[in-house]
Amino acid sequence: MSAVVSTACPYCGVGCGVNVRVQDADERVIQISGDSGHPANRGRLCGKGLALADTVTLEGRLLRPLIGERETDWSTALDEVASRLQQVLDEHGPEAIGFYLSGQMLTEDYYVANKLCKGFIGTANVDTNSRLCMASSVAGHKKAFGSDTVPVRYEDLESADLVVLVGSNLAWCHPVLYQRLREAKAQRPDMRIVVIDPRVTDTVDIADLHLAIAPGSDTLLFNGALHQLRLHAQADYVFLEQHVDGFSEALNAAERMAADPVAVAQACGVSVDALARFYQWFCYTEKTVTVYSQGVNQSTIGTEKVLSIINCHLFTGRIGKPGMGPFSVTGQPNAMGGREVGGLANQLAAHMDFDADSVDRVARFWKAPNIVSKPGLKAVDLFQAVADGRIKFLWIIATNPAVSMPEAARVAEAIASCPTVVVSDCIKDTDTVRLAKIKLPATAWAEKSGTVTNSERCISRQRAFLPAPGEAKPDWWIICEVAKRLGFAEAFSYQHEAEIFREHARLSAFENFGRRDFDLGALAVISELEYQQLPPQRWPLRATKAKQPKELFEDGRFFTANGKARMHPVVNVGCAVSASDAQMLRLNTGRSRDQWHTMTRTALASRLNQYRPEPTLTLSAFDAASRGIAHGDLVQVRSVNGAAILRAEIAEAQRPGQVFAPIHWSDTYSVNAVISALVTANTDPISGQPELKAMPVDVQKW
Ligand code: SF4
Repeated sequence: MSAVVSTACPYCGVGCGVNVRVQDADERVIQISGDSGHPANRGRLCGKGLALADTVTLEGRLLRPLIGERETDWSTALDEVASRLQQVLDEHGPEAIGFYLSGQMLTEDYYVANKLCKGFIGTANVDTNSRLCMASSVAGHKKAFGSDTVPVRYEDLESADLVVLVGSNLAWCHPVLYQRLREAKAQRPDMRIVVIDPRVTDTVDIADLHLAIAPGSDTLLFNGALHQLRLHAQADYVFLEQHVDGFSEALNAAERMAADPVAVAQACGVSVDALARFYQWFCYTEKTVTVYSQGVNQSTIGTEKVLSIINCHLFTGRIGKPGMGPFSVTGQPNAMGGREVGGLANQLAAHMDFDADSVDRVARFWKAPNIVSKPGLKAVDLFQAVADGRIKFLWIIATNPAVSMPEAARVAEAIASCPTVVVSDCIKDTDTVRLAKIKLPATAWAEKSGTVTNSERCISRQRAFLPAPGEAKPDWWIICEVAKRLGFAEAFSYQHEAEIFREHARLSAFENFGRRDFDLGALAVISELEYQQLPPQRWPLRATKAKQPKELFEDGRFFTANGKARMHPVVNVGCAVSASDAQMLRLNTGRSRDQWHTMTRTALASRLNQYRPEPTLTLSAFDAASRGIAHGDLVQVRSVNGAAILRAEIAEAQRPGQVFAPIHWSDTYSVNAVISALVTANTDPISGQPELKAMPVDVQKW
């Protein structure tokens, strides 16, 4: 019997540990089980994780490099990529080059892509599909804490007395974390759970209270909560005086917006009694964790929504202590690794911004000839620049923006019109790969080796357990080979992913004198064997284990210049687009329980396709009846951007005026089902994250 390989699930940001036993490497037959030693899941797996064995097939894999439709060898393909990139660089400068990355990439892959762009090519036009996922949380963390730091661990949810889930269908999107919460509540029935979500989701099953708020009213609700905390004398003034700036302005803004709870209830679309009960629990439960996800982040006021939640925790000092804190749960397996190495266009590297000191420090560390000194284009702007012809060389890695971006059809047109599009992927025929001029075969989950960091900042090893098929290569190797051909051999001569990881850890520690209680360099000196055996561990590591505080911010020290957190006035409410036609419904988009992203992997598992075999539109009985639509009818959903054909699913619990559709289907798996194509790319002005939850649409029987 073969040995068990411990690795990490490649789907959501819970970051479960997976044990793999290879039964037949040639036939790619494996057995999957949950890793009982992993702190994220303690042996549990959800349906997607359990079906991983069905997805390691070679069916549909991209196995050789292609230039156009012609198969070629690696040397020719890499020469072609480098020469086209160099030509654009020479003729149009670095601003004409863009990279679009993915939260599916390992930290090591992300690190070298970011280093090549921001240090050597000289462009910060390197963004990631994480922009669609958690950019508003990143912006909120940085404004409030001075750094993109998540101050909560999964066990805090289990030990809290009140868990508030905002814009999060945890049961479907972070299933193992949901299981942990459900079990904690079963053991401690006095624990209260409040779900704040326009939809009645499966997560509501464990809720003591569900507030089905109107889309976009979150800031009103939490400004109201802040005002109530003040009225009920729940401020921790000692903590505020010592550790928080800006609370007067934030309180005044909250009072101006949300002093009257009756008006708040009315505007949020919930009953006065239900809102009063929530405020009562929120005011008088010290051990409160507020979990938030895409319903908060994917908004034109996403950063303010995040800040409205963080304000409440800072005001009460409910942060940095067991069972308390604001908690952003993110979508992808490398929830935080990409953020840490600078995968976003508005970050430099190792959580550093584009201030002069950081630019200088990174330039010296990398010995970078072309360090960038200002942020690049965020995802929506990046693809607009492609459409405008400003980006002439685009490299897309491990993601499918032709389906997943808002206004997806326009994004696909833009990609098709770009003079050079390189796509690195493990799948041969995605909607984006089809548009590529050069296709590079990348290794897939079973063959990849590196690290990922989950939603609670736990670094896990992803370990290869099957040989790379055909000519498939790791993303970091492909990027480094191009870098060498551009003349940067010395800086990209890694022989092993462990070398990249060590360099990333070294950069984190390099001249980083701010916090001596962290040992940022501890992982910079590990051997390849230690890297191979690296157990899951939370980042950053503490300097002295004996003195290790259990919670970040336990000492009230934040990562701002003066060490204080900052509360911010929250003044905006609502959604970007208001329905001009009273007949129009609000389209909310999100995940289906058993699918992942654009289905390139989960659709391979027949058991995952059984739950929702085709794309659906969930609508209320009232809206269906008024349009003559019966359950199971085909309906056309139309917005100003286009139309999609979906199967009507009438749900008693669906709120009239709102509809829901999953994001996963593309023309590869259905006909006219790209739901992101309907959504206008309105973005949060701070985070750049697009609004994906409230698009006005017309729905008619088809
Ligand atoms: Fe994978 Fe997320 Fe399911 Fe865990 S909860 S098994 S990480 S999809």
